[in-house]
Amino acid sequence: MALSGLAIYKHLPKENCKECGLPTCLAFAMKVASGQAGLDDCPKLGDEARGALAEASAPPQRLVTIGEGDGAVSIGQETVLFRHDERFQNACGIAVRVEDSLEEGELAARLDAIKGLSFDRMGQVQAVDMVAVENSSGDSGRFAAAAKKAAALGKAVVLISADPEALKSAGSEIADKRPLLYYSGSADNVETAAKTAVELKLPLGIESPSLETISDMTEKAAKAGLQDIVMSPGREKPSEVLEFLTKTRRAALKKKFRPLGYPTLAFADGTDDAAIVAASWFVLKYAGIVVIDTIEPAAVVAILTSRFNIYTDPQKPVQVEAKLYEINEPGNEAPLLVTTNFALSYYSVESEVEASRVPTHILAVDTEGTSVLTAWAADKFNPETISEALVKTGAAEKVSHHKCVIPGMVAVISGSLEEESGWQVEVGPKEAVGIVSYLTSRWKR
Ligand code: SF4
Repeated sequence: MALSGLAIYKHLPKENCKECGLPTCLAFAMKVASGQAGLDDCPKLGDEARGALAEASAPPQRLVTIGEGDGAVSIGQETVLFRHDERFQNACGIAVRVEDSLEEGELAARLDAIKGLSFDRMGQVQAVDMVAVENSSGDSGRFAAAAKKAAALGKAVVLISADPEALKSAGSEIADKRPLLYYSGSADNVETAAKTAVELKLPLGIESPSLETISDMTEKAAKAGLQDIVMSPGREKPSEVLEFLTKTRRAALKKKFRPLGYPTLAFADGTDDAAIVAASWFVLKYAGIVVIDTIEPAAVVAILTSRFNIYTDPQKPVQVEAKLYEINEPGNEAPLLVTTNFALSYYSVESEVEASRVPTHILAVDTEGTSVLTAWAADKFNPETISEALVKTGAAEKVSHHKCVIPGMVAVISGSLEEESGWQVEVGPKEAVGIVSYLTSRWKR
């Protein structure tokens, strides 16, 4: 079991020097115990104490990286059960399952479809980031060949087989891509699978719906020298998968139970609505990897959106870069609309401008990602900040009429903005929905 705050405190220098960024050694000890600070943050800790506290410094849930380079996916090291307590740390991987029994053409077509599962959402790319190759053919040569083709996509790969030998041969083929070897066979052979993973220096996935069995399996794998483990209940009913995911997360984070201190993998088999809903549940609670079957873009985008939402830091509004945007190649006589850099505000304005087909400049003022009214109330969207943004972005060189349009909700600042900036200020519609009619019938340069 991990050490308590007081047990950690006994080993600290007790100098209360604040160099760790906390007011006292006791406060630091409490942070280490909760996994929110590391021993390296105290520069005065001696080697002896460091060794004694090694267990406490280990996070309650291990961080496991699958894949390499830009395609790597890191999962685990979560610190809370509920996102509102802090935030979820490492976004889960979304893997599309591919069976190695597919004919060559079908396999190529499916991999091609997976490659295209990438979507722009509020300026951020959301994509399927893993491929799970399943050894349904039972043929290890075919499995290894499919693994190589999947690895060529540049995404992280999960290799699924109940046969440790098949895992070994496919894993060896693409070991430099750091795939997850997912052993779906009997618990009796977990040591064999673990030895293969240790030998190839790869992470290992293991499965059992029983918490007792899975704990036993992780302990055996750890004894074989394996550290990077991913746990799964296997192909169970969604409600049972959810129970497994919740109980393992709780045991790791609340009870600091080391045998369950690993990230998880869940299967959402099938392509019907129930499978899509189950996949979204598993994303929200608390899978490290969700393996899906569907390649239907509308279904995949729903799952990716669940991930995007739950892994967004609730304390940091989603922002766009504060700058002057050019929509539909505006010339120097095109209108210039002013808004904030809160992503929702910006994209509401941008989509209406696109719909109007009127070439337009949009100035997104840095309001730390807050919306128009919130920023105005907090004095972040005022004559000074807007004038500063007009100067900083070189707006005067881009538009010859020196007229800007502000949201109708802040009409009250139009006079003082004219004085502060020297620009002519026009009051636009209160809501973005009025932008099309404003640009097409009211705007005059
Ligand atoms: S840096 Fe170390 S000695 Fe100083 S207050 Fe923090 S824990 Fe205590």
